[in-house]
Amino acid sequence: MTLRLDHFIGGEHSAPADGGYLTSTNPATLETLYEFARGTAADVDRAVDAAAQAFSSRIWRRMTPTQRGHLLRRFGDLITENADELARLESQDNGKLLREMVGQLAGLPEYLYYFGGLADKVQGSQIPTNSPEVINFTQREALGVVGLITPWNSPMTLTLSKLAPALAAGNTAVIKPSEYTSRTILRLAELADEAGFPAGVVNVVTGLGAEAGQALVDNPKLAKISFTGSTRTGAAIASATAGRFIGSTLELGGKSPNIVFDDADVSNAAMGVIAGIFAAAGQTCIAGSRVFAQRGIYDELLEKVTARAASIVIGDPMAPETELGPLAFEAQLGKVKEYVDLGVSEGGRIAYGGDRPDVDLPGYFFQPTVLTDTTNDMRVVQEEIFGPVAAVMPFDTEEEVLELANDTDYGLAAGVWTQNLARSMRMSQQLEAGTIWINMYRAMSPMSPRQGFKNSGVGIEHGIESMHEYTRLKSIWINTDEGPVADPFVLGR
Ligand code: NAD
Repeated sequence: MTLRLDHFIGGEHSAPADGGYLTSTNPATLETLYEFARGTAADVDRAVDAAAQAFSSRIWRRMTPTQRGHLLRRFGDLITENADELARLESQDNGKLLREMVGQLAGLPEYLYYFGGLADKVQGSQIPTNSPEVINFTQREALGVVGLITPWNSPMTLTLSKLAPALAAGNTAVIKPSEYTSRTILRLAELADEAGFPAGVVNVVTGLGAEAGQALVDNPKLAKISFTGSTRTGAAIASATAGRFIGSTLELGGKSPNIVFDDADVSNAAMGVIAGIFAAAGQTCIAGSRVFAQRGIYDELLEKVTARAASIVIGDPMAPETELGPLAFEAQLGKVKEYVDLGVSEGGRIAYGGDRPDVDLPGYFFQPTVLTDTTNDMRVVQEEIFGPVAAVMPFDTEEEVLELANDTDYGLAAGVWTQNLARSMRMSQQLEAGTIWINMYRAMSPMSPRQGFKNSGVGIEHGIESMHEYTRLKSIWINTDEGPVADPFVLGR
């Protein structure tokens, strides 16, 4: 019998109000993995109510920041204790390589340890004013119930990037995971419960974006939405919440440039290009999908990248030798193929790949694909594909490549490969992206803040700054002068 998973609400597994379930499929084998609850507004309302009750409960309110930090650290320890299971479950759900998941699991507890360490540092400051008799200070307060909506490509990492700072700051949460990857997020909620978070502090409602996700966004009791996903959904969420004046953190799409100068170590740069676009089958927001190679090394770089692409081992994501697993679901496969066809119809040439590979599994596999003869204005170069497709384009000068790299609606990340320190600094100052990697690509840490520029988002994830996204700032003024009130018709300061 197929495994059936319910929502996690108020510390308990909870069946959907209308009894509906959806199924999740393994994208490598096409086997049905499990059924999960198809959440509706009634389920979301119950979860938000449970979170609101937990937020105002004495047990959560009276918990000291140090105790909250302990709970987060215990949660991190439990993730380590269950790392093998979590890695396997997520790999089965979205097709990510098991060895990449094992690596992610080794780093995931750090999110809980980092924000656990910050839980007792949610502090304001004392502000000098120009009135010696006035004391002014600020304090940071938890917001209340926060709604966390996450995608399928790195579900646990992207959920903990939000949940850890939200809990550290004293909020309670309702999570709506992607309909493609509910399982590990439900397991995380169970582990939070086991760590000792009071019932209702962490809730999960599974289901479709247009149903459960939309209902969460529309719930009037929410104090904030933190969303990671496509720019299109992010824009819809921004307009749906606009009239309610609640905060939203939006981590959105990308079309990042990976720039190789002719003074770079070309072998290293080629590996950086491969890591940028073929790791995780290109299904990462930070994919380095626009590769700019300076004319002097263009041929050499292209040769190295296509040779390595041709040797990539495609297949079962569970097998240790596999380097490229399947795309996460059928529509993704269709979208990637359509974009490759579009690129060719726009005048691009397939230097490698472009089709389905020969793999002895029935899943949604696609070859690592390298396009040449593309220009920066083509749709295939401007729109996010979210798959293993790189467009490699030549350039001549630093000024030219800066203009090309910045000529995009997105601004999530950029890579630069050069041995010239001054050039790397000039590039890092002038590239319009929230994360710049010099002689490296695809690195991330809970300690390092990241922000999407332009259509890649609003707000900050990771770092102390991200915890502030889950607080509001209050400014408190105290008059220590007990004498008569000064002129009531003049603004005090
Ligand atoms: P998506 O926008 O389709 O879905 C993301 C989440 O939003 C899912 O849980 C979905 O169910 C939900 N959703 C969909 N419609 C909704 C609605 N109307 N109201 C509320 N919720 C709704 O994105 P996806 O396909 O799951 O993820 C891929 C996208 O995520 C890519 O664009 C990628 O670049 C982006 N992404 C960004 C980052 C980042 O940090 N900037 C990280 C990872 C992925």
